[in-house]
Amino acid sequence: MVGKPLDSILKLWHREVLRIGAIMLVLILFVVGTTLFLAREIGRRAEAEDKLEELATTDSLTGLKNRRKFDIEIDAEWRRAARNKTPVAVLMIDADHFKSYNDTFGHQAGDQVLVGIAICISDAVRRAGDCSARYGGEEFAVLLPGLSAIEAFAVAETIRLKVEQWSEDPGVTTVSIGVASITPSASLNWSDLIEAADKALYAAKANGRNQSVVAAIPQLALVA
Ligand code: GH3
Ligand code: MG
Ligand code: MG
Repeated sequence: MVGKPLDSILKLWHREVLRIGAIMLVLILFVVGTTLFLAREIGRRAEAEDKLEELATTDSLTGLKNRRKFDIEIDAEWRRAARNKTPVAVLMIDADHFKSYNDTFGHQAGDQVLVGIAICISDAVRRAGDCSARYGGEEFAVLLPGLSAIEAFAVAETIRLKVEQWSEDPGVTTVSIGVASITPSASLNWSDLIEAADKALYAAKANGRNQSVVAAIPQLALVA
């Protein structure tokens, strides 16, 4: 009987084991590397999407939410309030005589006033679920889920007094605020709430500005 010596068979077997082991190691490193790479890319993508979402929903001058985001938030809160039968309050805030402020002190100074008003609003509106937004040029909107008209009026007055005291020359920068609170019902939608707060804002302007006025909506309140 002539056969290959055991040593040479083992040597061949060892070489094969090493070869397969090396291939397996390369494959494992490849899979681990690819997984880490993909995980990092997914993380970066999620971060980029968050930043994009932030940019798309934030007012660049004041850092408050923009109108688009406010509309999304009020829609969601209105639906939630309809389910829970709770009120939703809105403040519409408008800078007084802002055109003449711009004309006197310049547009850039006007921009700084808008930033100051936004800070006063943020200072007064701190609950989770509240939403402060720049609604238009020199107009702001605040969403206060769950608040009655009286409670919302108190928040409005806090904001108004903060703005009055904040400006370097007190009284130069003031705001008028329309306040409305409605408990949703089948016959109402959130644009009625905005409209009511807007009407109250016009009343505040007509009454002499630098004041908060609560919307007179007895028929809406009764329906609610
Ligand atoms: P009222 O008290 O009735 O609200 O008077 P008003 O002058 O504030 O109202 P009006 O609507 O006549 O003028 C609004 C002014 O707000 C006109 C515009 O130049 C100014 N404005 C709007 N957006 C901006 C902005 O982003 N920056 C600055 N600096 N001014 C703005
Ligand atoms: Mg104005
Ligand atoms: Mg205005």
